[in-house]
Amino acid sequence: MENCIFCKIAAGEIPSNKVYEDEHVFAFRDIAPQAPVHILVIPKKHFASMNEVCGENTLYAAKCLEAIALIAKQEKLNKGYRVISNCGEDGGQTVMHLHFHILGGEKLSEKMV
Ligand code: 5GP
Ligand code: ZN
Repeated sequence: MENCIFCKIAAGEIPSNKVYEDEHVFAFRDIAPQAPVHILVIPKKHFASMNEVCGENTLYAAKCLEAIALIAKQEKLNKGYRVISNCGEDGGQTVMHLHFHILGGEKLSEKMV
């Protein structure tokens, strides 16, 4: 999609620190990390959020979830990690291309979920 920063990152038009890529999924390090490991996992097909997980998009969302487990292993997050997908304004979503945050590398705060 035009003017979507995450579509441009997945297409290699904007540089990123890539950690994983396959046919359906692209993953890269967050530019403003909130934990020692902070990775964004995105589908290579543009859709805004969890609200659009239906039809063909469901495959892309599921492939993201599969990739998360692979990336966690690759990043040696064997003591655990947190996965977050902010959805819409109240959820704090700022980039309107579905993404999953992987946060880890330390004992995370218990304040939010
Ligand atoms: P949201 O708030 O939508 O859940 O998360 C968007 C995330 O994307 C934020 O954590 C932000 O730091 C990250 N981000 C925004 N623009 C860029 C970028 O150009 N490159 C990278 N690597 N991360 C970005
Ligand atoms: Zn996009």
